[in-house]
Amino acid sequence: MKIKFWGTRGSIPAPGKDYIVYGGNTTCLEIDLDNRKRVIIDAGTGISSLGREFQSYKEDVDIYLLITHIHWDHIFGFPFFSPIYNSSTRILVDGYNSCMKGLRYSFDNKMGDGFFPIRFEELKADIQFIDKLNHGPLDIGGTIVDIAPLHHPQGGLGFRFREASKTLVFLTDNELDVEESSFSDHITFCQGADILIHDSHYRPEEISEHRGWGHSDYESALDLALKANVKKLVLFHHAPERKDSDVVEITILCQDLIEKKNSRLEIEAAKENSVLVL
Ligand SMILES: [Zn+2]
Ligand SMILES: [Zn+2]
Repeated sequence: MKIKFWGTRGSIPAPGKDYIVYGGNTTCLEIDLDNRKRVIIDAGTGISSLGREFQSYKEDVDIYLLITHIHWDHIFGFPFFSPIYNSSTRILVDGYNSCMKGLRYSFDNKMGDGFFPIRFEELKADIQFIDKLNHGPLDIGGTIVDIAPLHHPQGGLGFRFREASKTLVFLTDNELDVEESSFSDHITFCQGADILIHDSHYRPEEISEHRGWGHSDYESALDLALKANVKKLVLFHHAPERKDSDVVEITILCQDLIEKKNSRLEIEAAKENSVLVL
């Protein structure tokens, strides 16, 4: 499978010269499976550029859209995903139980009228909520997707993809806390993964002020990766104030920690527009 990052930022987009390398768009990943099926995770602002890319292919868009949860930074790119205005597009939606509500609310909701000029009903694409993941694994042409609950306000889902012998785990907006039983559940979920993409929103010194906000520091993400015997950890959901130079510094700090522990864990920070091949 191929994993492309269209948005790596947490909370709010971060445009500007300090965010060129790791990118400023919020969460959106494209996963191209070996069976040629295409899966998108989350509809943060990164999905807007992905929509333009799809249009350049000049072929019908037929995708799975998996939504981790409906916090703004994970859905507010959806109205700007141009394939939804095309009748040849098919989008099979799955993920957190409120995901369809969240995608609809980006257009219109009972709180007010005027968030967006188009109504959800006016979209031309065929958008279906398939509702499989909350009842068992989702089989996408032989690739199996499982879920794990996130430790995050209002909840959410992490996803694990198993394609032949390869395993990818995506856990963002997840507060790791060794005191909580969810930590051992996450170790089990990530066990032996080839790639773990995990929330590393905070530095360790910032976490005590933000307990309960639903995000992890990079040391906790590293701890999870080591305990679960993961091969590669990808730091994700960079805080909006984290400049490129800060992300580089954090990656080096993590590499030093790994060296001290004599581990062979590989580590990198997610970069917008970069591709991982698994
Ligand atoms: Zn987020
Ligand atoms: Zn969130």
